[in-house]
Amino acid sequence: NSLSMSGVKHALESKGVRFIQLIFVDINGVPKGMEVPIERYDEAIDDGIAFDGSSIPGFEGIEDSDLIFKVDPSTYAEIPWEGVSRVYGYIYKGDKPYHADPRGVLRNALEELEKAGFKAYIGPEPEFYLFRKNGSWELQIPDSGGYFDLVTLDKARGIRREIALRMPALGLIPEVLHHEVGKAQHEIDFRYDEALRTADNIISFKHIVKATAEAHGLYATFMPKPLYGFPGNGMHLHISLWEDGKNAFIGEDGLSETALHFIAGILKHAKALTAVTNPTVNSYKRLVPGYEAPVYISWGYRNRSALIRVPAFWGNGARIEYRCPDPSANPYLAFAAILMAGLDGIRRKLEPSAYVEENVYEMDGSKRESLGIDTLPESLGEALELLEKDKVVRKALGGAYWNFRTYKEREWEEYLEYLGAKGLPEGTKKVTEWEMERYFHV
Ligand code: GLU
Ligand code: MG
Ligand code: MG
Repeated sequence: NSLSMSGVKHALESKGVRFIQLIFVDINGVPKGMEVPIERYDEAIDDGIAFDGSSIPGFEGIEDSDLIFKVDPSTYAEIPWEGVSRVYGYIYKGDKPYHADPRGVLRNALEELEKAGFKAYIGPEPEFYLFRKNGSWELQIPDSGGYFDLVTLDKARGIRREIALRMPALGLIPEVLHHEVGKAQHEIDFRYDEALRTADNIISFKHIVKATAEAHGLYATFMPKPLYGFPGNGMHLHISLWEDGKNAFIGEDGLSETALHFIAGILKHAKALTAVTNPTVNSYKRLVPGYEAPVYISWGYRNRSALIRVPAFWGNGARIEYRCPDPSANPYLAFAAILMAGLDGIRRKLEPSAYVEENVYEMDGSKRESLGIDTLPESLGEALELLEKDKVVRKALGGAYWNFRTYKEREWEEYLEYLGAKGLPEGTKKVTEWEMERYFHV
């Protein structure tokens, strides 16, 4: 960090900022934290600040209640519109990293990747809807724009710009703002960065979007499928690995062997990965044909029906686009899982299946079978069962695996109970009230 500790203090005092938010995320990737007076900043860096974690989702258990938050000073930033500072950090239990701290899980995965000689860069494409709330869950769409619509149909353009203008204060560099396909659906892409930084940035981004929407009397939702029959919210991830300061995905003529092994690793573990990159009941309402969301396990170059797409690239831009993740994912856990799956492909020199350029949605079952194209899990319950069988992805989640699994299984059971009580079929792709209640604010 460029600012020394006392330098930070001085900067804060001179601007009148009196409090610092100490932020971590729970098992769902929802930011949690406490605020401390700036006078405690040095202490938060040196010794950490103790807190009771027993009511944090996924951290439960009386034995886990005494936790310590330690600052990662390189993440320090001020939130100008709130008049406070914020900083991310790691959670400790005694003098050991706390096993269910998602940021710690990603740190471990990145260390493993670094031992293999790689550094990961990730750029996300988060999508969201802006809603107005009318009474209970009656939602009104405030604009009638569609993909790339500009002035006349897009009533939210001012809000998008306001969001983008707030981003640099928290270290995010906005790159593209546009209306998405769904009415009142938007996308703002920001500059790729080193994986841990990007995971933090996703948390910051969602915070900025929600706060800005609220200031306009609107609600922003990142839930993967807020409306049946409308496009879902995806969060495509553009991923590259770098070795000795060079993009390791660049081959002599197109992608390198490393990139192909990485793709093969992800395809091999795709089913189990889904539990982590698409971790809500609602996630599986998005993964249906017809809305540019993936359903089948394949890869291709231009193919937007594929799970992995390789965008055209020049110079250092070699990367893969993983199209499955949605913004309800905990980005720390999702990145750890994806990177360890790819690394498994590199270590075992796995070869990907042949790439497919046809529209996979339009193939019939026997054509897909002859090409060896498998299907993604169709529900959270199925994904959790597949996660249990995948040692690589489980290991990527480290000590957080059991916390994640226990938490998510309960979530799935509660949903099944709700369906039973309402007499709804288990496989329904309709979005239920239970999901709106539970996930609208993810
Ligand atoms: N909204 C689509 C999804 O659910 C993605 C659309 C796009 O290609 O940006 O993944
Ligand atoms: Mg998009
Ligand atoms: Mg994309």
